[in-house]
Amino acid sequence: MSAPAHRRSLPEAPTRRGWCPGLSRPMPTGDGLLARVHPPLGILSLPQARAVAEGARRFGNGHLDLTARANLQIRGVSEATRAPLAHLLEAAGLGDTRSDGGPQRLTLTSPLAGHDPSESLDVPALARAIEAAGLAVPGLPAKTLVVVAGRPAAEMPDGDAYVFPRAAGGVGIAVAAEQGFRDLVTCAAEEAPAAIATLLQAFARTGLRRMRDLSPEDRSALAVAVRLEMQPQVPSPVRERGHGVVSRRAVPFSPRASVEWLAPSQSVLTVDAPFGRCTADALDRLVDCASRLGAGEIRLSPARGFVLLPLQAPSPAGLMALAEDFIVAPDDPRRSVAACTGAPACASGSTPTLKDAARLAEIFAPLAADGRSAHVSGCTKGCARPGPADLTLVGRNGSYGAVIGGAPGDKPAMHLPIEAVLERLGRAKTVGLAAAFAPENTGTDFGRTRRPA
Ligand code: SF4
Repeated sequence: MSAPAHRRSLPEAPTRRGWCPGLSRPMPTGDGLLARVHPPLGILSLPQARAVAEGARRFGNGHLDLTARANLQIRGVSEATRAPLAHLLEAAGLGDTRSDGGPQRLTLTSPLAGHDPSESLDVPALARAIEAAGLAVPGLPAKTLVVVAGRPAAEMPDGDAYVFPRAAGGVGIAVAAEQGFRDLVTCAAEEAPAAIATLLQAFARTGLRRMRDLSPEDRSALAVAVRLEMQPQVPSPVRERGHGVVSRRAVPFSPRASVEWLAPSQSVLTVDAPFGRCTADALDRLVDCASRLGAGEIRLSPARGFVLLPLQAPSPAGLMALAEDFIVAPDDPRRSVAACTGAPACASGSTPTLKDAARLAEIFAPLAADGRSAHVSGCTKGCARPGPADLTLVGRNGSYGAVIGGAPGDKPAMHLPIEAVLERLGRAKTVGLAAAFAPENTGTDFGRTRRPA
């Protein structure tokens, strides 16, 4: 009998891009090992949520991350505690699903899946069937993601493949391209898991990490492989221009922090974790709240938050209590500011990104109200938001490179300590971000040497 997954030794180079740190292969970071938990369909029963909180407290440092793929990360695990943590979570039904380096969780669905009245598919059933079919595909990159949507949407999360209902019936399967995605085939919903499995097998053979990197010829070959599997039911050709049903975006597919009603006796309570972080104790308090309100489970949102489906809405006092730990208002400026873990918890960071992001969010509020976004990144890797933001700060040697309208890897207009960033940001309300961060803007000295007159 092979050794349990959590007893196998760590493979080399665990911090490489594309690594997926599950329970059996946690990833070293600045505050110890990081173990990612992949709840099936992003749903935790209340006992499972309690197990995650207990695991983070007993075997980690009590801190949790919520990821944009609706997974959880337990921080501060050690070599001595990783095995008992894996035991605890396996017993709770949250163990790793595969040990071949492939994706622990293949699908991403809306946190309202199965409860959204506008869905025209049984999304949970379809996602479960796709997960089962995908498990049999060897050689998949760890971060392969299939987005399963219950309705055609204007915005979808960044994934590799997409399954969504067609207006004319059946489901469409599309693959990511450099811009948006490209239709591959149309089939009956019950045929989609087999079609996706064929697609994934063909993709694994390309050796690429992301489907968006497929060439048009690769995509055509994938379409042929899927159609051979599906014939004679699948007539639709690959449409290289796409047909405009959806376009990709980094952080959508999730309700904003709020209390809403889906039906007279079915409310939705959405709370976001500030900058994607919460503590084990905060998760326990959320479970207490779910229990009081009659919600049987806690769902994870790609907006790095939690969604409850309680039978009754929380009282104003209950909402105030939740606000101690979570964002409960849709206009909270922290929702417009992304931040990674940064220093000291991440060894690649030199700036305290979480603290700096909290300070920045207060000053950023008027810009957030205008729909602007900011990102405080500890380094150019941009874990919290790889794409562009209106203002991106990139940590380097204890200060920040300021990128206006760009991504963490773009060239900064200047490097500033956080105090100078906040000072310029204060003026951005009136002069605009670009003017406030223009290199020639020396209304305040900001530590630069003025030229002699
Ligand atoms: S972006 Fe942040 S969390 Fe990611 S490696 Fe850099 S410092 Fe660490």
